[in-house]
Amino acid sequence: MSQNGRVSVLENLQFDNRFTTSLPSDGAQDSHSRQVVGACYSRVQPAAVRDPKLVAFSFETAELLGLAPEQIKQQDVVQILAGNKLHGGMDPHAACYGGHQFGNWAGQLGDGRAIALGEVIDVNGCHQMLQLKGAGPTPYSRSADGLAVLRSSIREFLCSEAMHHLGVPTTRALSLVTTGDEVIRDMLYDGNPRPEPGAIVCRVAPSFIRFGSFEIFAARGDHETLRQLADFTVATEFPEIENDDPDRYVTLLGQVAERTADMVVEWLRVGFVHGVMNTDNMSILGLTIDYGPYGWLDNYDPNWTPNTTDAQNRRYRFGNQPAVAQWNLVQLANALFPLVEKVEPLQEALELYGHRFESQWASMMAKKLGLPSLDEAPDKALAEDALQVLQTVETDMTIFWRELSSISCLESVEPSDRVQPLMNSIYNFDRVTQEQKSVFTEFVENWAARQRGLGSGDEARRSSMKATNPKYVLRNYMAQLAIERAEQGDTSIVQELLDLLKSPYTEQPNKDIYYAPRPDWARTKTGCSQLSCSS
Ligand code: AMP
Ligand code: MG
Repeated sequence: MSQNGRVSVLENLQFDNRFTTSLPSDGAQDSHSRQVVGACYSRVQPAAVRDPKLVAFSFETAELLGLAPEQIKQQDVVQILAGNKLHGGMDPHAACYGGHQFGNWAGQLGDGRAIALGEVIDVNGCHQMLQLKGAGPTPYSRSADGLAVLRSSIREFLCSEAMHHLGVPTTRALSLVTTGDEVIRDMLYDGNPRPEPGAIVCRVAPSFIRFGSFEIFAARGDHETLRQLADFTVATEFPEIENDDPDRYVTLLGQVAERTADMVVEWLRVGFVHGVMNTDNMSILGLTIDYGPYGWLDNYDPNWTPNTTDAQNRRYRFGNQPAVAQWNLVQLANALFPLVEKVEPLQEALELYGHRFESQWASMMAKKLGLPSLDEAPDKALAEDALQVLQTVETDMTIFWRELSSISCLESVEPSDRVQPLMNSIYNFDRVTQEQKSVFTEFVENWAARQRGLGSGDEARRSSMKATNPKYVLRNYMAQLAIERAEQGDTSIVQELLDLLKSPYTEQPNKDIYYAPRPDWARTKTGCSQLSCSS
């Protein structure tokens, strides 16, 4: 068990633990695996670890919390970030929630390997929950160990910060520490368990409440706790909804629907596939949460899923994410039904998802294309054409959009010259036919003509397109390179990628190796194209 010494190294952090002080808690205080009823959380202690070491931290997340970089590096603070010590204001706990996994109700899930420490008031006056992922067993761990390995922790740490800098709503990561303990994992669930280095990420978000947080109480018929949680969520996270508004739960659903639509549109913009959009992995704030077997599209393939567990049905494939988000919102609506008892208003709130998705998708695609909107039919057609072109031959999504952003639309440019930059985005270029190339040329000529018709100047369009079409994303193989090195004790690539992905829209000429199509060796490699939930 943890030493749990309380230290006062983070004097400048002010804690205000609204979640644990406002909501009902589990009576028991031990970590044995069990069903917890009538409670939103269980108080638990992080497990002690042998030899914590700070691998990396996010400067920007530290800044948000009002922490100085030198502070994070202090040994007492590293002990806190590894769960060995606690700050006086912390109230460590694991949340109770349920969820639908791959479309089926799974009952109680909960924080099985995440221990929330408490809510810090950030430099903007907002509450930020700190949470250690991989800090040991909780009542929600079922038969698992509550731990996390370096591999998955690097993936979560790098990706959540990369997403933030891309402008995608996400939970944040403050720190990545190794624990000095080994954790046994069967990475591909194929009977080959091996010891891996243990690690802990300190995640940060205003709230970690999920769709499944509501579903568990509805499923158990515990409408009292359900109402308490919904009222708490409205009061703390949706201040624009009046606490005594009789329609508040419906309004809440509508706002969650809109935020979720915004999040999914952003995923489509940058080529992110969450990989395991179970309802327990859907944030009530519309943040990308629970980075597990996620992946990034290299070649644009709407049918691709990174998750091996999902390989058969591809429920969580790139192009299905908008539909799955909607399905998940229906589960949230069902969970809120006992508080509303009328179907129609909930249905109307759900419809906001589709409306919002359509309008946000159109404005996102317009920005990617450097167009003012997709309101005019020829512009809508260009958006549809672009997605068709991307599927004509294997084409790198990130490079295609970024190269398009630089192209000149002047009439004087020869079509064969104009299309040339896009050829850099094609995989197996040698095998591409003239006919396939002409699909690209025709699209680019139509697009350039339309831009001329709109009177758009090259320079202004280039800079606005480059602000929406990133140059650098966390390609699956890049994270894998960082992991393989880190497992050998060299964490320099983790740091390099963290720095690179801080400015994903900015040209970084000495980082050209990361602006290239996926290397061939990574096409089918585990960790690069195939990922499991084992973490
Ligand atoms: P995930 O697929 O990561 O969203 O996890 C689904 C559920 O399993 C959540 O309740 C997790 O907390 C729990 N879980 C996943 N991995 C572990 C682990 N190593 N130890 C304990 N619980 C886990
Ligand atoms: Mg999860």
